[in-house]
Amino acid sequence: MSGYGPDEWAERERLDHIAQQHDEDRVAKERELEGRLSVLEAEVGAAEVNVWRKRAEEAEAALEAAEDLAARQRQDDRAELAEAEAQIRTANAAIARVRALHVNEYGSCAECTSVHSALWPCPTIVTLDQSGEPS
Ligand SMILES: [Zn+2]
Repeated sequence: MSGYGPDEWAERERLDHIAQQHDEDRVAKERELEGRLSVLEAEVGAAEVNVWRKRAEEAEAALEAAEDLAARQRQDDRAELAEAEAQIRTANAAIARVRALHVNEYGSCAECTSVHSALWPCPTIVTLDQSGEPS
């Protein structure tokens, strides 16, 4: 004795058809979602790449600015050094001129003896010979 009458077969077929339709819909939905996901992943990936590219550009710009600053600093240092060397040459020349005036002449200073009879070394030479920084 069969368990199914014609109505029951029809109902079973209808339910099978609905189940199959559901499966097809589910597969289609999954495919659609997978497609969307890969699009999102690609977008997120591109966004992240852009972030890193921007950071790399910023780092490069910062490096360039630092190199420019260092180059300017070196130029300033060279200019300062050249100025200091010029000042030293000027001061040494002045000292040499003073020393040329105040020379030992028979135990007296050639320059100072005419003003006040100063023995050698005169106060000017003693002062020039003093070492150390001015106070
Ligand atoms: Zn003198």
